[in-house]
Amino acid sequence: MLKKSKGLKSRLIELTKFHIKDMEGSSSEDTKRIIPKVFKTIRKAISTYKKEIEGLPESVQSAPKEFWEELLVQAKKLGIDLVGFAPIVEDFMFENDHVGGIEVLYENAIVLGMEMDYEAIETAPEPPAGIESLNIYAELGEATNKLTNFIRSKGYRAIGCHPLGGPILYPAMAVKAGLGKIGRQGLLITRRFGPRQRLSVISVNISPLPDVAQETVDVEQYCKKCKRCVNLCPVNAIYDEPIVKENGIVTRIDGEKCIEHFYKTTGCSVCIKECPFHKIGYKAQFYARL
Ligand code: SF4
Ligand code: SF4
Repeated sequence: MLKKSKGLKSRLIELTKFHIKDMEGSSSEDTKRIIPKVFKTIRKAISTYKKEIEGLPESVQSAPKEFWEELLVQAKKLGIDLVGFAPIVEDFMFENDHVGGIEVLYENAIVLGMEMDYEAIETAPEPPAGIESLNIYAELGEATNKLTNFIRSKGYRAIGCHPLGGPILYPAMAVKAGLGKIGRQGLLITRRFGPRQRLSVISVNISPLPDVAQETVDVEQYCKKCKRCVNLCPVNAIYDEPIVKENGIVTRIDGEKCIEHFYKTTGCSVCIKECPFHKIGYKAQFYARL
């Protein structure tokens, strides 16, 4: 019943590496205010996980449809914009969760998404875009913790995974949950926000999951023609053609190049800003390409 990693390697975003000292005025103040909130929500998630694994349950539980309805209402109240459901895929689990220290997950997942502010992302790679990224790590972190506690308060078992990083590949789980598709720049693209959201996961020992219909999202044919992210990434970190890494992972992103620039600019976000699924939205993009 418990799910464990099969050895997928993860990358840690280290908040201490952001170039905060180079910032000026309100950007510096905003960052100094938000980063402690990110850490606070991480500490909360870790302490909840520690309590959760003190006595892991032997069997799964079932939940009535009223529980799932209430969960969706709670999620909305907490400012969560996207909710999907999918079984945990062990192949997507990292061998090391640098952020929350989570080693096991229950068999099912609730995948959550929170929108980042359009205007803030439009400023990328200037600080307001990165600050908004950090802000949503904090906000979604808090909302994920609260929703995890809500599930536990109803007598079910739940492990909340922080949006900054966790034990599983969130975009792949979001695709599994029907929330969207992966774009050429490696980000989840959804109908509502394009690539402009952050993700988290709560794993639950509840089965079956509710059958919630999600709208289809098709990005592949547009990405083939577009390539804006490939051409406009400031450090050429997005490959035109995918490469196969030593560990067998297929990727289009040079993670080393990206993360260095990400730290320098406190969150870069150019490949979000320049994506037409963000700029003009999914529907407009869909019709523009017909
Ligand atoms: S910028 Fe273009 S190629 Fe890149 S993810 Fe968006 S639609 Fe796809
Ligand atoms: S975040 Fe910036 S550096 Fe990284 S892939 Fe996107 S555009 Fe390139």
